[in-house]
Amino acid sequence: MVVAVYPGSFDPVTLGHYDIIRRSAKIFDHVIVGVLNNTAKTPLFSLEERVKMLEDAVMDIDNVSVESFEGLLVDFVKQKKTNVVIRGLRALTDFDLEMQMAQSNRIVAPEVDTVFLSTSIEYSYLSSSTVKEYAKYGVDLKGFVPECVISKLIDKLS
Ligand code: ADP
Repeated sequence: MVVAVYPGSFDPVTLGHYDIIRRSAKIFDHVIVGVLNNTAKTPLFSLEERVKMLEDAVMDIDNVSVESFEGLLVDFVKQKKTNVVIRGLRALTDFDLEMQMAQSNRIVAPEVDTVFLSTSIEYSYLSSSTVKEYAKYGVDLKGFVPECVISKLIDKLS
């Protein structure tokens, strides 16, 4: 049974994230979406809100669960008794940072490997920040975030 952890801020979850989750769930036996409680960042949505939106979004995928974590990703991964991390890659701009992160994780935990999934082309421009910006200016969010996130974004930014 191969379990993989897909970590991120998910502030909020987008269809780009959802696509990575759905595709990972076909590759691995179980996918744990790890929502990071990053005290250095001030997210728009609370940790609980981000977890809830993800839970609603992935309800239709049997082998996916959502958990929050704090501290080092590799500690969370080990606590989940696995050694696989999933990350999504959109463009070269992601690559630098992701490579750095994967390599520094391997320095502190050599048994932990990162698997990169390339974005589906229709989501290559999509990020949580873009979505928040769109929401602020009343852009229709259909096609950018899961249905259950749309009203939450509108409520939050109105
Ligand atoms: P973080 O703050 O950890 O980067 P994010 O929620 O922004 O958290 O992203 C989580 C992961 O999902 C990252 O690996 C990021 O590259 C990936 N990701 C974000 N948006 C997309 C997208 N549109 N397509 C594919 N991967 C994505």
